Parts: sequence; C-alpha cells; structure tokens
Amino acid sequence: FSFSDFHLSGDIIKAIEMLDYKSPTAVQQKVIPALLNKRDIIVKSRTGSGKTASFAIPVCHMVEWAENKPQALVITPTRELAIQVKEDIFNIGRFKRLKVPAVYGKSSFYNQEKELRQKAHIVVGTPGRLIDHLDRATLDTSNIKYLVIDEADEMLNMGFIEQIEDIIARLSGDRLTVLLSATMPGTIKELCGRYMKAPELIEI
Ligand code: AMP
Repeated sequence: FSFSDFHLSGDIIKAIEMLDYKSPTAVQQKVIPALLNKRDIIVKSRTGSGKTASFAIPVCHMVEWAENKPQALVITPTRELAIQVKEDIFNIGRFKRLKVPAVYGKSSFYNQEKELRQKAHIVVGTPGRLIDHLDRATLDTSNIKYLVIDEADEMLNMGFIEQIEDIIARLSGDRLTVLLSATMPGTIKELCGRYMKAPELIEI
C-alpha cells in the first residue's frame, strides 16, 4: 500500500509528502479506505500507531473547502490532546487551507467564539467546553457530517460519557462516526451500539 492508492487530492498528498510520511501505517491502511467509503468505524489501537492521521487524512480530503459552517467535529479527552490533534489536522489540511479551531477549557471563551464565527472546517475540542459553546450557540453543528471520538476509553475514565452523549444528541443522524479507543469496555461498546451505523471494527 502507498498513499497514492487512496486517490487523495493533490493538496493532501503534498501535505503528506511534506510531513515525510513515506507509506501508510497498518492502521492507516485500513482506516483511510474505510472512511473514504463512508463506513462508520471503531478503531482499536494505541497512540504511536499513526491513528490521528488515519482519520485526519480522509476527513481533510472529504470536507468541502467552500462551506463555511463546521463539517467535522473531533472530541478529545484532554486539552493537550486537542492541541496535538488540531496541529496534526492543520498540517494535513494546510495546502487545502483548512481552518481547524480548537476549543478547550482554561482558555479564553471569547477568543474561541471569535474563531468559531469565522469560516471553520474541522472543530477539535474537549467535552465540557464543546458543551459550553453548544449551550451558547457559538458552535453551529447543523452541517456536521463527520464525528470523531478520540481516546474513548480515556473519556470514560474521566467521566465524560454523559457529555459525549449530550453532544451526539445535538448532531444530525446523517453523519459518519469514527470512535477510537485502546480498550473496549462494555460502556464504550454500548455507546457504539447506540450511535453508530453497522460499524466496522478495525483492530491493530
Ligand atoms: P499517533 O499514533 O497519531 O499519535 O502518531 C504517532 C506519530 O507517528 C506521530 O508523530 C505522527 O506524525 C507519525 N506518523 C503518522 N503517520 C505516519 C506515517 N504514515 N509515516 C510516518 N510517521 C507517521
């Protein structure tokens, strides 16, 4: 497998070359084509496997540059991960000029609100701050087509499952959902059963 097998647009290929990724990792070989085929997927894999790029590459490829409202939402358990994921997505989407605001706690709500009012393609955030933005209608989810729940087992450990469900409840059912988790406790399986459509399990 090579990145050229996925028929990605030139601006995404150029970004992958600039990052010096020579070939897709094992998880990317499975996750990238599944998402491009619009399958809901559960990814059981660990940090270091290239899991972030496995969803960032197809999502950056699929979002439409011309649309102004956010098309993808990535939920992460911590602000550190939100910042890291935003950076990874930004790097992959840089030649497509994708806007990737990140929203998390202990940081100016007003500055995030200002960024969200501009054009935004992919929003990355932690559960609590995402709900704040939803409650105050500073995050428009009416055009969200892609939902990524990253490190779901960490969200469970941190007591965020209810908040995740609260966020999902405000999204359109007509969307693609990706859930990533290093482990698959029962609560996460139930979440997948409730909110995903015939998900494919990809285990690396
Ligand atoms: P992650 O599992 O998302 O935390 O990624 C682990 C590290 O692997 C990150 O530093 C990525 O930049 C890097 N990485 C991701 N995909 C590739 C690839 N195909 N080739 C080389 N490095 C990669």
